[in-house]
Amino acid sequence: MNIDEILENVRKAFKLTTKHFGNTVTFERALFLGWYCDLKHPCKFCYMSTQKDKIKDPKKARRKLESILAEAILMKRIGWKLEFISGGYGYSPKEINDIAEMVAYVQKCKQYLNVGVVDLSSINLDVIEGVVGAVETVSKDRDWICSGKPLDKIKDNLLKAKELGLKTGITIILGLGEKEEDIDKLLNLIEELDLDRITFYSLNPQKGTIFENKPSVTTIEYMNWVSNVRLNFPKIKIITGVWVDKIPMISPLILSGSNVITKFPVFSVFGTKKAHWIEKEILSTGRELIGTFTDIEVLKGEKVLEKTPYIEEEINISKENIRKVEELKDKIDEKINSYISKVLKKVVQ
Ligand code: SF4
Repeated sequence: MNIDEILENVRKAFKLTTKHFGNTVTFERALFLGWYCDLKHPCKFCYMSTQKDKIKDPKKARRKLESILAEAILMKRIGWKLEFISGGYGYSPKEINDIAEMVAYVQKCKQYLNVGVVDLSSINLDVIEGVVGAVETVSKDRDWICSGKPLDKIKDNLLKAKELGLKTGITIILGLGEKEEDIDKLLNLIEELDLDRITFYSLNPQKGTIFENKPSVTTIEYMNWVSNVRLNFPKIKIITGVWVDKIPMISPLILSGSNVITKFPVFSVFGTKKAHWIEKEILSTGRELIGTFTDIEVLKGEKVLEKTPYIEEEINISKENIRKVEELKDKIDEKINSYISKVLKKVVQ
């Protein structure tokens, strides 16, 4: 595709997004459970693949429950939905279920899971909105790059989730050697799986991986992928991730059809110059931003947002998990305060 065609697609994609989603953009963030993945063959781009041999006790690489729940509470406060609950492979269905129940309980909101191929019959589906499959790439090298997580199993899991009435999505990282002609493969996959959402990321090349010195995706390439998905699937939710070194990509991605911006390390950037710039990037497209990356009063709980993307629901979880949350209350509050203190040290007024 030449640049005129891409820009024409972007123009159409922006209009189509407004037609189906209105004029708003939101932030989301994955809720990570830890820093260890027990895949025998970790994905070749992944930071966790460089850490695996250094971690002697995988249990210690897991986040504490109070830290996970504190983050979930703060995310709701600032109007950022949790993109999904995510961890490397290696959590038992019971562990995943307990965490999902507790996160849903403190947020009063159903959750998405992105935790590998999970046995859904062991999960309380009353607290689950959807399941995300980490497809990562549609390049011809996928089986080699992600040899530990075969595509067929991910697809089966997503189809089962659909049958159970859940929403489904996939993640795609651009910059893993995909070509423009692979866009059709992605479009076919979205159609085959009848996906409700897709998350794109731009590869953040990790030291110690084979991608360390490779260039990531360009802005125009990223726009081409996103706008093609929007034009072919006008109602799909498109989440786009950029790292803090690629802030100028944000407005082109929104113009291309993105509904949600993700991937920022929220507490180390909140309220800083970068956070103000990120908000400005979004607003410069003429979209309204729901949620905040800069309002300290909201983060501290001294002010409530007028609009948020959260729709509260009745969440039914086991008595045991309610008791666990209640027992952890003081530790959760302590963690909330420590996250806020971390932000206050860097904030720009
Ligand atoms: S499954 Fe996820 S956490 Fe594990 S190596 Fe692959 S990308 Fe990393």
